[in-house]
Amino acid sequence: MDGKEHFSYKAICPGCGEAALSVEELYDEIPGLGRAVLVSMRCAKCGMAAYHEIPLENRGIRKVEFRVSEEKHLTARVIRSPTGMIRIPELGLELSPGSRPVGFVTNVEGVLQRFLDVAEQLAGTAEGPEKEGAEMAIRRIRSAISGALPFTIIIEDDLGNSAIIPPD
Ligand SMILES: [Zn+2]
Repeated sequence: MDGKEHFSYKAICPGCGEAALSVEELYDEIPGLGRAVLVSMRCAKCGMAAYHEIPLENRGIRKVEFRVSEEKHLTARVIRSPTGMIRIPELGLELSPGSRPVGFVTNVEGVLQRFLDVAEQLAGTAEGPEKEGAEMAIRRIRSAISGALPFTIIIEDDLGNSAIIPPD
């Protein structure tokens, strides 16, 4: 993935908890930094704003693993490039690049929230064992979000551009 790529989406604001956070991501070559993602966010509700420049030139690393065993680990930053596949083996969850791959920058809790959204949709439409499976996934993801269930988040990336950055 060379050249400029731009993504924008709405997210849950870490400041006020409303789904009012506008996130803009620009993937670009930055002099002195190399390939990087510039992330700017602003909340329409509480006004929280942030800007980050995150280098992506980690090409030696193809697989990143992060053990989430404390609540503060949920704030670790997750950079998933469009080629990254996210797995959480303990929860039986997998997010593959798919047919229309997009990259995103979030935190561990945001990744869980994405899985939760999918499981909730499935639980609402599926029937029988599939519905039960989705409901079980929802319970496990919720206890992971609350910090009660330790797990490992793994990103495998063919281009080595995904990363997990611990809170400290
Ligand atoms: Zn806010």
